[in-house]
Order: sequence, then structure tokens, then C-alpha cells
Amino acid sequence: MVSRVIPVDPFDLVIFGGTGDLARRKILPGLYRRFMAGQMPETARIVGAARSELDDDGYRKMVREAIEEVMPADRRDAEALDAFLDRLSYVPIDASGKGGWKALAKAMRKDVIRAFYFSVGPSLFGALAERLYEHKIAGPLSRIVVEKPFGRDLESAKALNMTLAQHFHESQIYRIDHYLGKETVQNLMAVRFGNVLFEPLWNSQFVDHIQITVAETVGVGGRGAYYDRAGAMRDMVQNHLMQLLCLIAMEPPSRFTPDAVRDEKLKVIRALDTIGPEDIVRGQYVAGPETAAYTEDAENEQSLTESFIALKIGVSNWRWAGTPFYLRTGKRLRTRASEIAIVFKDAPHSIFGEEAGRHRNILSIRLQPNEGITLGVTIKEPGPGGMRLVDVPLDMTFADALGPEGEDVPDAYERLIMDVIRGNQTLFMRGDEVEAAWSWTDPIIAAWERRSDRPHPYEPGSTGPEEAQILLHRAGRRWREIKE
Ligand code: NAD
Repeated sequence: MVSRVIPVDPFDLVIFGGTGDLARRKILPGLYRRFMAGQMPETARIVGAARSELDDDGYRKMVREAIEEVMPADRRDAEALDAFLDRLSYVPIDASGKGGWKALAKAMRKDVIRAFYFSVGPSLFGALAERLYEHKIAGPLSRIVVEKPFGRDLESAKALNMTLAQHFHESQIYRIDHYLGKETVQNLMAVRFGNVLFEPLWNSQFVDHIQITVAETVGVGGRGAYYDRAGAMRDMVQNHLMQLLCLIAMEPPSRFTPDAVRDEKLKVIRALDTIGPEDIVRGQYVAGPETAAYTEDAENEQSLTESFIALKIGVSNWRWAGTPFYLRTGKRLRTRASEIAIVFKDAPHSIFGEEAGRHRNILSIRLQPNEGITLGVTIKEPGPGGMRLVDVPLDMTFADALGPEGEDVPDAYERLIMDVIRGNQTLFMRGDEVEAAWSWTDPIIAAWERRSDRPHPYEPGSTGPEEAQILLHRAGRRWREIKE
């Protein structure tokens, strides 16, 4: 298959927080991969801007080490790495003070796209927007990329939107949710809207329920203090899982344009049912033989924060009324895997009788690891012995279906950064979407906080608390087993 990489226009990309964890693990290695793929024009420049007192060479050395650490040697090209590092420079800066801004203004070129990646703590987003404007570094052609978390409730998200809006038009603001940059997530839209097969079945008449699982094996150690103020609902559901739900539930947009897609997602969020305690299971991991309890990781003995949550959500519109969406996500679970499963209804009548068993079509969209899509189809078990039925997967795992190119699926960050340069906001959250998501989340959180609900304890390495299983058993359903 011939690779079709279209180079983007010349740009200056400033990474505020260019020495931080996210920049070193994701943003810079991602940019290097796009450089190797030939997508970055000769004249592209990347400027690291952070608190550390480094010079250009010191920064290049740090970035080289970061790339060598996260990318296997057989995926790197020494010459290309040198050429990539040549495009880098560094400006020490104080985001909320005066230092460094003149030097940054000087480092920027005229007549190229300017993009500013805010890879710093959210408390600095406002200051950065303000300084960029004040020092005339950002203009009408500039874009800003804002990392999560985008607020911690509706009020703070609104305040942040207002601060950014003072200096940037909505069309210049790229609120990143890296789940939307995943190849499979975009493929979800291709599968839905590029084939006639699925769309007629994509409704409550044929879909029994939908499961969205994002399971992690790691605990919250290292970022326990931050996490303890957020919890799984704020950290994962309000943004990532909600975005996935929207892509599944939304009506077909008339065009694949940023606002057409985002308008449809917004309608879904506004159609979500308010849910009560019976539809929510919160959990907190206990200590294991070699791992600490959540309360220890969070350094808060009395913590009532959830490291696991499972939810049953209804979408009140004609397409989905009666088809629940089950969401679950958590830390210290058995496997690290994310999957969306569309579980179709049983055939209305089995001509093969009881002994043939119960079989269901399940469309599984796998986000990690092994990104890909499988469709469970029922067929006859080969060989003599009567009509015995088995479920087999029709497999669209990218690495298999697309050959070597499929193995080299771009990471979400590299794709999204290139979208910023191209000026394509389709895979970024609009301000009103974020606010609508908080409007749905806030009262649910407020209700359990009012009741001082204690999360259910669960064993590390398990699938979460038993109560999460009961949430589905109540309706005669069960969670899919998620394999690594
Ligand atoms: P980090 O603490 O590792 O790095 C912070 C960076 O900000 C450093 O480069 C530091 O020099 C710079 N910085 C801090 N204060 C500054 C100031 N006053 N002026 C100039 N620079 C300053 O943080 P991180 O993990 O890289 O996260 C950055 C942002 O990305 C945060 O908003 C975080 O929530 C978000 N995020 C991170 C990850 C991740 O995997 N690390 C994932 C999703 C979102």
C-alpha cells in the first residue's frame, strides 16, 4: 500500500512545558515520527519553552534522550533524528511572570502558522493566553492547544472558556482529548458512515446495549494528590468516555466538518438522562500483596474518591431510548485495555432450537492494545454432527488488514498536532461541548458528595467491585471479558 502523507504548511510550534513529562513522552516523539514520515516541511520549527534554564543544545540533548527512551532503536533513524533536532530551539520562560517573553517574540517568524501547545498545569492556561496577547506573539493566524483537565466542574470550565475567549476566537482553540486522535476512534466513524451495513441497525431496535470499558493496571501513585481531587468521573468519564459515547450515539452529520460533527455530539450530551445512585457503582482499590491501597497512593486515609466507576446511562432520543450505555473505567484492574462493544439483540426467533445456544452479534472496537475492529458473527461449527453454532470474529485488526502500514498507526498525539497545523478542529472539543459535559456530570458528583457515599473496595488485579457486575446482572446482561 502506498503511503499518502501530505506535508503540512510551514509552522512555528511553541511547546509551553516543553521539558515536562507529556512533552517528553508524547508530544516530541510524536513530532519526530511525523518528521520521519515526511509530513513536516523543511521550514517547520519547534520551540520548547519552560521554566528550566537550558540553551538550545541542552534542550536538544534532553529531547534526544527522551526520544531514545520511548522509541525502540529499530524505529529510529539516526540521521533523521539529527535533522529533527536541528529544528528545535529553547526559550526559558516564566508563564505567569515577565521573564523570557521578549526572547520568545524574537524567536517567532512572520508569515508561518503559529501554534502554542499549553502543556503546563491548567492554572497557567489563562496567564499564557494573556501573555501571548500582551506581547503580540499570537495573532489571528495563531492556534492554541489546551491540555486536559479542562476545568473541574461547570463553573471552572466556563471561567476558563471565558479567559481564553478574551484573546482567542473559538476557531483558534484546540481542546485536546487524545482519545479522539486514536485511529480506531476515527475508524468508528468510517465504519458507521462509510458502509451501508451498520447504520440501519444502529438504534434501539437492533442494539441491546453498549459497553465502553477503559481499564488500567496502574494505580494513581505519583499523581495521587491531583487524582484524589478529581476521581474517575472527572478524570476519565467527563471527557474521554463521554466523547466515545457521543461518537457512537450521534446522528450522522451532514458533512465531515468540525462544526457539523461537534453539533451532533453536543446533541447527544444534552440528551443524556440524569442518573441516580442505583445506576452508579464507585470503587476504590485496596492494598495487594505488592501494591499499596488507593488511600495510601493518594496520601489520604479518609479519601472517598473513586478509582473505579461503572455507570448505566440512557440517551433520551428516538434512536436510543431503551438501549442503555454501560461505561466503566478504573485503575489497578486486571488488564490494560479499552474497548467499545455494540451488543446487538438476539435474532427474533431461533430456527435451530434451544440446543444451538444463544448467539449474539457483537461489534467490538478496540482502542488499546492492538487497535482494531472485530465483528462477532455466528456460523456453523465445521464438520459433521448436526447444526452446532459458533461465534467467530470477522477481524479488522489494522496490523493484519493493512500490512506493515497498519503496524505503524500514528499515535493519537502526532495525528492531533498535525490537525492543529492543518487547522482542522473536528477531533477537538468545542467550548460548549465541554460545558455541556460538565453540566451533566456536576449534579451526579454533587449528589454522591452530599450523601458522603463510600466507594466499594475492590482487589487490585480484579475487574472492579462485585457491585459493577450486579449493575448488568440486574438486567440479565454481563460485562464482556476484556483481554489484553
Ligand atoms: P510536568 O509537571 O511533567 O511538566 C510541567 C512543565 O511545565 C515543565 O516543563 C515545567 O518547566 C513547565 N512549567 C511549570 N510551571 C511553569 C511556569 N510558571 N512557567 C513556565 N513553565 C512552567 O507536567 P506534564 O505531566 O507534562 O503535564 C502537562 C499538562 O498536560 C498538564 O496540564 C497535565 O494535566 C496534562 N496532561 C499530562 C499527561 C501526561 O501523561 N503527563 C496526560 C494528559 C494530560
